Amino acid sequence: MNEVAELFAYPFMQRALIAAVFVGLAAPAIGTYLVQRRLALMGDGIGHVAVTGVAIGLVTSTSPTWTAVVVAVLGATLIELIRERGHTNGDVALALFFYGGLAGGVLITGLGGESASTLQTFLFGSILTITIPDVLVTMVLATVVSVLCLGLAPQLFAVSHDQEFARVAGLDVRAYNLLVAVLAALSVTVAMRTVGLLLVSALLVVPVATAQQVTRSFRTTLVAAMGLGVLASLGGLVIAALASFRANVAPGATIVLLSLAVFVLTWPLGVWLRRRQRARVPFDDEVPTDHEHAHDEDDHAHGEDCGHPAVPHGDHVDYVHDGHRHAPHGGHYDEH
Ligand SMILES: [Zn+2]
Ligand SMILES: [Zn+2]
Ligand SMILES: [Zn+2]
Repeated sequence: MNEVAELFAYPFMQRALIAAVFVGLAAPAIGTYLVQRRLALMGDGIGHVAVTGVAIGLVTSTSPTWTAVVVAVLGATLIELIRERGHTNGDVALALFFYGGLAGGVLITGLGGESASTLQTFLFGSILTITIPDVLVTMVLATVVSVLCLGLAPQLFAVSHDQEFARVAGLDVRAYNLLVAVLAALSVTVAMRTVGLLLVSALLVVPVATAQQVTRSFRTTLVAAMGLGVLASLGGLVIAALASFRANVAPGATIVLLSLAVFVLTWPLGVWLRRRQRARVPFDDEVPTDHEHAHDEDDHAHGEDCGHPAVPHGDHVDYVHDGHRHAPHGGHYDEH
């Protein structure tokens, strides 16, 4: 216990702990939307692109944090635009982008005469060397990301869950998609000092996967993931710091391994909860889970010219009506 008290007395440790809390909140917050959209690896891609940003900062002797922010935001916007086109070879385009970012960063660092070890602190994290200005940037960016992720949850959820519906409901889907990409880029650069660009995606995704084991609603998942993110980044940092009395232990690695350990421990609980849920609703699997029985009679019969927007949806057509989406089902309408 003495060792812990000793650790918390060091100013570098206090800076690291503050940064860890903010990173732990912001990364899973945006990660929840990425997982929802099945873009779990987007953070990883942005992390690779940001390597070039860090290299530019190192070589030009400007702040690598800010050059990384600029390059990561540009990269994320490009990734989103390529993804939006939905070309069959979009996958390959993204892969080229990621390798280019990493290789470009290594090359530029070498050309600038910087040693590879400087770049390495960004690839694998170096939270114990974080400076006061970096802590302030981390706090500001992480707060922006967390507040927007929580405040715009209804809109961002709608866009991430069902783009067609969001569009019909009047949301600017493209703008929100770009916002998610930009917030992801900010989170990646915020988490870069803590877990490093090569492991950054883990902090965006693993707490979310863990939360999904035990939560059912989107909002609970979001909040639980943020809690787990703080737990992992603080816990991993303290474990690494305590272990470093005896060995050279990188905080980035312990943070990622700790969040993976929590995921593994939560797995049986998730299996049990899902089994219990099925036992309670025996025919759950046979009912489409996103349709709920709405009303048996409707004085208004939706049709082609009824004035309500029609959205093709799977094997049926939904009508948007009073902020809800109905689907004709036999002689009645089901609601989403
Ligand atoms: Zn029905
Ligand atoms: Zn209608
Ligand atoms: Zn439907």
